[in-house]
Amino acid sequence: MAFITISGFPSSGKSTRTQQIKAHLEAKIKNPEYSGPLKQVIVLSDDSLGISRTAYDDSRAEKPARGTLFTTLQRQMNADTVLIVDSLNYIKGFRYQMYCAAREMKLRMCTVYVVATPELCHQWNLTRPDDGKYSDKTLNGLIMRYEEPSSMVRWDSPLFTVLWTEGGVPGDQIWDAITEGNVKPPNASTLQSVKAPSDALHCLEQTTTSIVSAVMTESQGFGGPVALSVTPSLQLQINLPSRHITLSELQRYKRQFITIHKKAITLGSTEKGAVDWSEESVAHKFVTFLEEHLKA
Ligand code: ADP
Ligand code: MG
Repeated sequence: MAFITISGFPSSGKSTRTQQIKAHLEAKIKNPEYSGPLKQVIVLSDDSLGISRTAYDDSRAEKPARGTLFTTLQRQMNADTVLIVDSLNYIKGFRYQMYCAAREMKLRMCTVYVVATPELCHQWNLTRPDDGKYSDKTLNGLIMRYEEPSSMVRWDSPLFTVLWTEGGVPGDQIWDAITEGNVKPPNASTLQSVKAPSDALHCLEQTTTSIVSAVMTESQGFGGPVALSVTPSLQLQINLPSRHITLSELQRYKRQFITIHKKAITLGSTEKGAVDWSEESVAHKFVTFLEEHLKA
């Protein structure tokens, strides 16, 4: 029934905050005055999944780790459970993917952004047992790659920011968000044709990024039709040429595609009436665009 994403720098105190949130929510659930559907709080973390810190040493090793996390969280989403995902969750696209999964399950959700300065993260990292430490290089790399959550985008909101100076967490507000907040509509694509321009721009950026990474993952250079999994609820097929496709090539087409469509969005112009800015429609347009350009 509820889903909480924790995000923050490595060794910024995410697991410490998670325990505070868990204790607060468990007390709420146990309170005799509460008669809602929630029965338990489950924490999914790199530690509980046996993902070692060294998985973040290079981004190739990270992918299977994220895959494991994602499959597990989909299995654990339940009507009686508050699921807290205590991991770095630093990639915007990954938070978006989790949001889509939670939306499919009609879960209420929120994001908690745990903030500590890079200096404190380094300092706190040293206090960990040896097998729980990040190497300096990995710590710096992750801080550099970190994509900050934003309350402006639907997949990070509502967003609670907890600073290192704060003793506790906003437990009551989190409780309200996951028990009374809006349930995001499971099929937003039909509603998205009247989106605000900023949302449409995010969707454009996000959807094309997902497709670029899906093509990079799936293309083997043999050519022919390839299945792409853009989000858990959106699968597409693309016809690829039988040659090696590079990331820079795809990114160039992505930029061209975005430039063309951004103009239409910001001008609010429409092609013969309404333009559909749903994920699905953007994804189909971009796949067609790629098929045409990759052939050349
Ligand atoms: P993360 O889950 O973000 O990697 P942890 O919560 O495991 O971070 O904390 C990393 C280390 O920093 C732990 O050794 C923890 O005891 C310490 N730590 C966390 N929060 C604080 C704090 N507010 N003050 C001092 N040390 C802290
Ligand atoms: Mg942790």
